[in-house]
Amino acid sequence: MRPFSYLSAPDVATAVGAIAEHPGARFLGGGTNLVDLIRQNIERPDTVVDISRLPLDRIEELPDGGLRIGALVRNSRLAAHPLVRTRYPVLSQALLAGASAQLRNMATVGGNLLQRTRCPYFYDTAAHCNKREPGAGCDALDALDGAQRSTAVLGTSGHCIAAHPSDLCVALAALDAEVEAESVRGVRRIPLTGFHRLPGGTPHLETELAADELITAVELPALPWAVNSRYRKVRDRASYAFALVSVAAALDVRDGTVAGVRLALGGVGTKPWRARAAEQVLTGARADGAAFAEAAGAELAGAVGRSGNAFKTELARRTVVATLNRLSADGSPV
Ligand SMILES: Cc1cc2nc3c(=O)[nH]c(=O)nc-3n(C[C@H](O)[C@H](O)[C@H](O)COP(=O)(O)OP(=O)(O)OC[C@H]3O[C@@H](n4cnc5c(N)ncnc54)[C@H](O)[C@@H]3O)c2cc1C
Repeated sequence: MRPFSYLSAPDVATAVGAIAEHPGARFLGGGTNLVDLIRQNIERPDTVVDISRLPLDRIEELPDGGLRIGALVRNSRLAAHPLVRTRYPVLSQALLAGASAQLRNMATVGGNLLQRTRCPYFYDTAAHCNKREPGAGCDALDALDGAQRSTAVLGTSGHCIAAHPSDLCVALAALDAEVEAESVRGVRRIPLTGFHRLPGGTPHLETELAADELITAVELPALPWAVNSRYRKVRDRASYAFALVSVAAALDVRDGTVAGVRLALGGVGTKPWRARAAEQVLTGARADGAAFAEAAGAELAGAVGRSGNAFKTELARRTVVATLNRLSADGSPV
């Protein structure tokens, strides 16, 4: 581990000022990803700006019924919040499906948005990885040793097939969340669905956030029928494992017809995957298994499977159908 300077920021202005002055610096939230990456010599900041004492740990109701969530709210606290559990169950379930209780007690909302992929080659400094080292090549593309099991089938490129690992971001993508970011230039908002980038030829550029911007909050717009929402995660172990496939869904059924639907996928995409093609098929359709299967098929038509991850396409199709079947059986309580 390389030595670095440590600075604890008492307020937002100091934090964004420090990062502007030290372009090689990194913010430290809960540290559950960054510290591992520094230890493994993958991240090499010259300065670490500790933001854990900033007053960004509030969960507030917005006038329209939405929620404003401070970037330093811990994942466990957000999952347990009464307004999250009742109005956005998909969000609470996604958080509780991630990591372990100890990690969720440390992990923050802002840090979860920026966590790096779990592709094994990204963490193996002896391997070729364009995300870790631009232009190095991608060993995951031709992997035969089981490493492809964790990789993506949607949004991949000839330079990177690493899957995005976050559960929280899949729920946020379905809920049309917005990210608020602050720098010395001011405050701006970025829709969550546009926050993460597809890898293309530059997989090391993962988000639209500039290097000197601090995530200050995430806002959820009101969505009354999100009370009928659900997060389903398929993984190799019942807990403490990243998703092979996950589905975040909210469904509004009126007189047997889909009046509204929100759908996003995890584990299969190079970014949290908002399933707009499926939503288009479903809106106005009968809320039944045939429509759910057609919608899932439309979304996954562009999937590119490789020897070690081709199973994910069918698994995702089935998980979408099962999740929507369950939501339609539960009915729309609004
Ligand atoms: C064993 C293990 C299992 C896990 N399983 C899962 C899982 O199943 N599902 C899942 O979703 N996650 C999982 N995680 C990931 C975990 O959720 C993330 O490590 C965590 O959310 C990151 O939050 P943090 O606050 O600790 O971020 P940090 O480690 O502090 O930071 C991560 C990155 O975000 C940057 N950053 C942090 N806060 C801000 C901010 N406010 N503004 C700008 N930049 C910021 C940091 O500079 C750093 O680059 C797992 C992690 C581990 C170690």
